[in-house]
Amino acid sequence: MLLIKTLVPFLIFCLSLTAAETSNPTADLLVELLKVNTSNPPGNEQSLDELLAAKFRPLGFEIDIVPTAQAGKAHFIARLKGDGTKKPILLAAHADTVGVEREKWSVDPFAGVLKDGYVYGRGAIDFKGGLAVFAEAVLDLARNKVPLHRDVIFLSEADEEGGRYNTSTLAESHRDKVDCEFSLNEGGWIIKDASGKVQYVSISTADKSGVSLTFTAIGTSTHSSMPRPDNAIFTLSKALAKLADYDTQPKLISSTKEFFLTLAKTSEPPMSTYLNNLVNSGDPKLVHEADVEISKSSPLLHAIMRNTIAPVLLNAGFRGNVIPGSAQATINFRIIPGTDPRELISEMQSVVNDPRVEIALPPANTPEGERLAHYMKLTSTLKPASKETALYRALESRSHAVWPSAPVTTYLFQAGTDAFAWRSHGIPVYGVYPYPITAEDLTRMHGNDERVPVKSLEEGTKWIYETLLEVASK
Ligand SMILES: [Zn+2]
Repeated sequence: MLLIKTLVPFLIFCLSLTAAETSNPTADLLVELLKVNTSNPPGNEQSLDELLAAKFRPLGFEIDIVPTAQAGKAHFIARLKGDGTKKPILLAAHADTVGVEREKWSVDPFAGVLKDGYVYGRGAIDFKGGLAVFAEAVLDLARNKVPLHRDVIFLSEADEEGGRYNTSTLAESHRDKVDCEFSLNEGGWIIKDASGKVQYVSISTADKSGVSLTFTAIGTSTHSSMPRPDNAIFTLSKALAKLADYDTQPKLISSTKEFFLTLAKTSEPPMSTYLNNLVNSGDPKLVHEADVEISKSSPLLHAIMRNTIAPVLLNAGFRGNVIPGSAQATINFRIIPGTDPRELISEMQSVVNDPRVEIALPPANTPEGERLAHYMKLTSTLKPASKETALYRALESRSHAVWPSAPVTTYLFQAGTDAFAWRSHGIPVYGVYPYPITAEDLTRMHGNDERVPVKSLEEGTKWIYETLLEVASK
């Protein structure tokens, strides 16, 4: 009995040693990061800053911890000095994550569990995995004493998932600390198939933006015992039914064209034909067929080729015996860069085709209204990042070195990211989730049992390190 009692813990210890042996420095750092719960709200991103400072400071980085107006929320900046002949490169990663539905996880989401060649935890993909890859690549430059002709800035951001104190405020208040020639951020995917073969490497050069419009139906407010034909809830429901049957036309920009053509090369017929037709066919029937088939195969592909429509909130009525005088729906649109929200309103008005339904932008005196006004003011400078920069070229060539058979393509990110703070000032930002994952792993992002392969973290770190060597070393 005693022997078993002593042997069992010993065996468990040995097993955990075996797991540790399959790890690598990036996975080890990720495990540490995952153990600090930075679910936003509240985020508490500052709790990661001392952990990061202890790693960067001894290697000669200049450390800046920039507080925000909310206690516990701060941005962490580590700068490795170059000789200043070229402008800095910035690697930005958000430290906060979304929350969890704890009971739906098979492991503790805040324990940094290493299992079956994966690191599990909230943020493993989005974006503590990226934070760990960027940090390790930058730390390696210092460990290897690589002489640099530009500063390399590492930024761990607060409040990306929340919004209020994110990099837009940091870039406005401390531009000098994060100014750069170009930047890396989250964005494109490196997708591998079930056999482990990397199918493609996508690098986002632009993000979609969110716009929420309110649809308000007006009717007569009265006693529910005497219904009238102008019931606001019915009017709104009819408008929403029309929206449900409607879809916007595909609107391809250069990065999505390149992305779909790359997918065509790595797909089998008939999907490869649909993908080619979507981009190149002049026949509206073939384009429509391609749109339908591609959209059926993937909500992500459906989303990146168009302005998407998603009802997200409904608000009507306040008690059981009163017909309300109004009913309101909030519809969240994710728009292709270059879309004017006012054009979107007129498109929606013609779909609904009912003067009793008013479609409006969020009021200017609300946070959403302020955000949209800011976006509309800067949208003219918000161009996709060029492929003709030293950083894009290095990402492309080093990707071929790490994943030789995988094509590299630009990509339009389907959601918004913190890249806006730089892109809106004309600074090219390239988005990557720097680790090959399967489409199945991707569905776990913001979901349950989020995980990233240990081997992918190692490959991603090599990719980013070699990219930095090419772009920043003398
Ligand atoms: Zn993210």
